[in-house]
Amino acid sequence: MDQPVFDHRKLGLDDVFEFACFPGISCYNLCCYDVNLVLSPYDFLRVRKALGLSSREFIEKFAELHLGDVTQLPVVSVKMQEHDFACPFLRPEGCSIYQDRPASCRTYPLARFTGKDEEGKPFEIYRIIRETHCRGHFEKRPITVRDWIKEQGLEPYHFFNDLFGEIVFACQHMDRPLSADELDLIYNACYGLEAFREFVEKNKAYLEKVGFSADDISKALAEEEELLKLGLEFLKRTIFRDHLP
Ligand code: SF4
Ligand code: SF4
Repeated sequence: MDQPVFDHRKLGLDDVFEFACFPGISCYNLCCYDVNLVLSPYDFLRVRKALGLSSREFIEKFAELHLGDVTQLPVVSVKMQEHDFACPFLRPEGCSIYQDRPASCRTYPLARFTGKDEEGKPFEIYRIIRETHCRGHFEKRPITVRDWIKEQGLEPYHFFNDLFGEIVFACQHMDRPLSADELDLIYNACYGLEAFREFVEKNKAYLEKVGFSADDISKALAEEEELLKLGLEFLKRTIFRDHLP
């Protein structure tokens, strides 16, 4: 696969770019080979639920897991097929998990960058990724970044990925290694929700002490997206509370 090159422009939400991708385009599916497909906690939840697998089953069957060098955080990425380097979810007719595909597959051909400027004001910019195999750039279909986000169903991904992004930032600014117990808790809150649910059931009083209401806790026990939201907030209020952006 050729190396991606970023267009020099920095796009805001109302800027327009031209792109279209559809079955029948000459490069159809070429972008689903040899991909470094890192799954955020929300990506992981969506794909795992779509396949009806437990966290452990998904990791064993489809993923590679390691700790990030700089962040110390668990990094989960999709293992490409050994024989042809295709994404394991690719079928001749396209992506078999299309409704639940990860954020990077939805955002492409854009890449999203967020942070705070020198005055501390939050920013969100997008850059166009150009790869020579991708013919979608030659399709004359103008669209704003805002409409692309909506069309690709990216809103919940941005919500969860921004929450997780605060944790990544905090990890990068910690002045000590994480303990084994902290790493277990982080892994479970982000990727091992079955174990994190047990933690919530056993520690309701502690969760209330760090500011969660009884309603927050019962919603989290009833629904996995709420459980992930509570888990990421819990990490921010406990392990990472002194290191947030
Ligand atoms: S998840 Fe779907 S869209 Fe993303 S690389 Fe795999 S097959 Fe392609
Ligand atoms: S147009 Fe680009 S994104 Fe769409 S299938 Fe072709 S290579 Fe993939």
